[in-house]
Amino acid sequence: MTRIFIEVDWMRELRIHHFFDIIRDYGSYKILKEHAYEHSYHIIGKEIYENRIREIRLVVKSDDICERCSYLSSGNCTDTIDHRSDFRYKADFNDYLDTKIMKCMGYENRQIIEVKKLIMNAEKYLDKIFELYEGNDIDNTKMRKKYVSIGINRKISELGL
Ligand code: SF4
Repeated sequence: MTRIFIEVDWMRELRIHHFFDIIRDYGSYKILKEHAYEHSYHIIGKEIYENRIREIRLVVKSDDICERCSYLSSGNCTDTIDHRSDFRYKADFNDYLDTKIMKCMGYENRQIIEVKKLIMNAEKYLDKIFELYEGNDIDNTKMRKKYVSIGINRKISELGL
């Protein structure tokens, strides 16, 4: 458990692509429910939906979403992927993707960033999204771009940014 209480807000430890997955779901008005893997995506997602997280520590490793996941073993993700030919293990692909996203946005591993600043910096992620997700299904990336954009705009509006 890496949750830390700061004044009235929570800080969470997250992979940056997990943050944008949640913003994409927020943009598509998806209702989050517990996943079959039993991980904490729906819990953290709800916290972000409701603006209950003030800061995020960006990490390139298993994060707070991985808590309770049936594929988490000794702190490592053991899941595999089948949507790419260049990666077999999800952890390897996630590390590769998160490193690229963080470099593109100017962040370092273990950097703590305010959620508001992350939202205001999302343009860099959106501008490079096809390069960042190169090798993934292009229609999937187009949908991702559409709904992350909507999610970011919703956050900018509701947080008065
Ligand atoms: S352990 Fe792997 S499969 Fe489970 S939530 Fe984390 S990244 Fe996803």
